[in-house]
Amino acid sequence: VHFFKQEMAAATDYEGKIYLEEKGKPSAVLILHEKGAAMKNVLYGKCVRCGRTYEATPDLTTCECGGILDITYDYDYIRTQLTKEKLAARTDRSMWRYRELLPIEETTENTPLRVGNSPLYEEPRLAEMLGLKRLYVKDDGQNPTASLKDRASAMAVAKAREAGAKIIACSSTGNAASSLAGNAAAAGLRTFIFVPERAPKGKVAQLMTFGANVISVQGDYEETFELSKKAIEKYGWYNRNAAINPYLSEGKKTVSLEIMEQLGWQVPDYIAISVGDGCTIAGLWKGLKDLYAIGFIDRLPRLISAQAEGCHPINRAIAENRPWQPMEENTLADSIAVGVPRNADKALMAIRECHGLFVNVSDEQIMAAQKLLGRTCGVFGEPAGVTGTAALKKACEQGLIPHDATVVSVVTGNGLKDVANAIKSAGEPINIKPDLDLMVEEFAKRGVTVE
Ligand SMILES: *Cc1c(COP(=O)(O)O)cnc(C)c1O
Ligand SMILES: [Zn+2]
Repeated sequence: VHFFKQEMAAATDYEGKIYLEEKGKPSAVLILHEKGAAMKNVLYGKCVRCGRTYEATPDLTTCECGGILDITYDYDYIRTQLTKEKLAARTDRSMWRYRELLPIEETTENTPLRVGNSPLYEEPRLAEMLGLKRLYVKDDGQNPTASLKDRASAMAVAKAREAGAKIIACSSTGNAASSLAGNAAAAGLRTFIFVPERAPKGKVAQLMTFGANVISVQGDYEETFELSKKAIEKYGWYNRNAAINPYLSEGKKTVSLEIMEQLGWQVPDYIAISVGDGCTIAGLWKGLKDLYAIGFIDRLPRLISAQAEGCHPINRAIAENRPWQPMEENTLADSIAVGVPRNADKALMAIRECHGLFVNVSDEQIMAAQKLLGRTCGVFGEPAGVTGTAALKKACEQGLIPHDATVVSVVTGNGLKDVANAIKSAGEPINIKPDLDLMVEEFAKRGVTVE
């Protein structure tokens, strides 16, 4: 390569890249990292389909082959940077306490809303009812916009800032949208959000309150996604679409980093979680593998992939051991009513690698689990939020889980998001005039015990 100084100036088409020419023909590209900005812990984004690698730029999307990229880390480097002791001494309780395991530049600020640090409750009474030795419920509905999606959206906001973007867009069944709108609003960024018309009112109310530009699409999630894709191409907005942006599941993986830290690095036997696009279960698995790779845990749990009977393309692919096929979106669990899963590749890999269980539950079983969690644990989840618990209950009843197992069930979204369905399953209250005798009469009629 003949390489002269004046040629270098001419060949630099934009900051950070130099194109080298040999005899007038392109010969190589030099990629320059700005000092301090590079991610020392990240190697590259790697296509899960063809293995091709890409430099981990903030606006990285999918592979040329259409495959999804997986962020690949330098675990040897991370091991020198992060120890359990160092982590334990850290006062930041948000998801950013796991910085060394996250794909962000050292200089990138934490996003403003407190995302993560949701409680992990031990639930001995529910454990007994299900016939399990030990059961924990991770209530991720206690994130700032009330779902696990905040973990991905905070990551999207951090990466959009690195990319210098002012507008972020996404399509969503609801929670990705409201979490993006909230996390972006707090960071002073604008959002364009595409939701299917069926999205529950609670989620749309959040979007409007957070000041998003909301496009409610008269169609299903698939059509909503396609419209958002076209609009993002047209305007060049920062893309927070599930699976397209490889950083999102890296944000979601903080749920398993947190679970493991909360359990004192004692690995449970199973973790149950609901599955729609598949980013969440893929992220959960990635976090566990990260911890294994840096020696924080010494084995890996099995995952329970929970889907609705009315829409379970991922579980069907596992059950029949063949590629996934689209399905109708026929369940009241709107957040996982995903007939064309966007991250099927990573989700299927995760379920297969961990020898996971796959359990489909009916809408009735989902609503029963919502009541059960409410009554025994005081945890109020939305239908998709409790689908993992519904699947766990069914798996226990079918004898798929040994009695001496320790299980974590992740509740992924808060019940206040979808009050209409909660009232349908939990019923109406005693409704009377303000009169004590009437109340006593009503108690007797309904057999209410008062002591
Ligand atoms: C998005 C979502 C899921 C499923 O996550 P995917 O990444 O789509 O598989 C589960 N529960 C709730 C509450 C969600 O919002
Ligand atoms: Zn590829």
